[in-house]
Amino acid sequence: MTGFEFAVGLLYLASASLFVVGLHQMRAPSTARTGNLISAGGMVIAVLTTVVYSLVAAGGDWIAWVALAAGSIVGAVFGVSQARTIRMTAIPQLVSVFNAVGGGAAAAVAFAAFVLPTTNARLELTVSIPVTLDVLIGSVTFSGSLIAAAKLQGIISGKPVTFRGAAVVNVIVALIAIASGVAAIVLPRNTALLVVMLVASLALGVLMVLPIGGADAPVVVSLLNAFTGLAVAMAGFAIDNQALIIAGALVGAAGTILTLQMAAAMNRSVLSIILGGFGTGDAEVGAGSDDDDLSQIRSLSSDDVAIQLAYARHVLIVPGYGLAAAQAQHEVAALAALLIAHGVDVKYAIHPVAGRMPGHMNVLLAESNVPYEQMLQLDDANAAFDNCDVALVIGANDVCNPDARTPGNVVSGMPILDADHAKAVVVIKRSMRPGYAGINNPLFTNPKTGMFFADAKKGLADITASVKEYVSA
Ligand code: NDP
Repeated sequence: MTGFEFAVGLLYLASASLFVVGLHQMRAPSTARTGNLISAGGMVIAVLTTVVYSLVAAGGDWIAWVALAAGSIVGAVFGVSQARTIRMTAIPQLVSVFNAVGGGAAAAVAFAAFVLPTTNARLELTVSIPVTLDVLIGSVTFSGSLIAAAKLQGIISGKPVTFRGAAVVNVIVALIAIASGVAAIVLPRNTALLVVMLVASLALGVLMVLPIGGADAPVVVSLLNAFTGLAVAMAGFAIDNQALIIAGALVGAAGTILTLQMAAAMNRSVLSIILGGFGTGDAEVGAGSDDDDLSQIRSLSSDDVAIQLAYARHVLIVPGYGLAAAQAQHEVAALAALLIAHGVDVKYAIHPVAGRMPGHMNVLLAESNVPYEQMLQLDDANAAFDNCDVALVIGANDVCNPDARTPGNVVSGMPILDADHAKAVVVIKRSMRPGYAGINNPLFTNPKTGMFFADAKKGLADITASVKEYVSA
């Protein structure tokens, strides 16, 4: 080992150590920002080290120099511009695109390691196994994450997308991917076999994520994140790069823990979600309750809502995706502060998958300095609904859909916030349109529910103005 290679190894070790320290800091909200900065520092060291190392290795090869320069510039410009301009509600889609890019890059690295004529015709098993696994996992992650991003962006419906005979097609494609992968490992180097596996794996990613919707979607997004880490770690083994192995292992482990926690919170098994895509193709997916009788809907004005809230002793606010979409976090905090000053006990009921990313509501409410003590997690919130005078549902839908308690629809079995157990329910949303899962919500036609049709930001400002008038009168 030369002195230069030793220095490169040390810098990779330093960057990996910073990733570990940064990740550790991210376990608490108070230190998360520092943790993010430390991890970013580790990434800067890793990227710069790799660029310098690759330039030295490239010697006078100008094509390598141009490729490195183009990659660095395109990556940096895309990353910085997205980070600076992204709306908070679009972060989940961006994370999915990042997963796709990570998985795709890892698959490309492995593919290059396979086809480049630097080793013998028959690759060592220590290389061919991670290379093949990397192409498989990386390609599934790439196409699956792009479909997930399209679903989150609303380009493709959030409902399960299925077609007749899907189960058979999925099994055939999976078998082709596995068989060509095994053949690519045991036979002498054969690029055609790897290409077959690549195409089958890309198709598998699409087929795996398209039928997933409703309560399964958050688990799949986090599973794809874990896959990205796994693919990156495999790429590290393929090209013998310690930084990739460690960074990939960290992402894979963190993603796996998150996936298991999300699956537990959603009352799902990860395996049944993945295999679910293989089984739902021919089955009709239930649409939840019939919501045909819209005559039962009770429409409220901002004054009606204000009076109900001002008279209440216990209010539980149920925030959902619509609160984030409307960027109404400051308005809801202002209304809560006003009610608390008026002697009302106000708490927030937080569902683990409310919004479009894990912890979305916690992050959103933290932006307007809502104290953590006011945020009740699912079990505590459900214990509090029985004693709650008004459940104020703001832009939430699936997370409080009572149809989850009955089998046969896309949210069946998902633990929900029992808003319908409160003495009265007020829902703020713009229309009777469904949420992400695309199904009706009988809570909206429940006789104890009043609907205030408004954008969350404007609606909350109007309610706050009415409460102010009411309490000062
Ligand atoms: P939903 O998607 O079920 O419902 C959101 C509601 O907000 C809609 O019905 C919509 O109705 C309303 N809305 C949208 N914009 C506004 C606005 N400007 N003002 C007022 N209301 C608005 O959200 P939930 O949070 O209840 O549930 C989350 C869903 O997302 C679950 O199905 C979950 O599985 C899924 N998901 C969650 C992920 C996560 O990690 N958290 C990741 C992927 C998916 P209207 O248009 O009538 O206003």
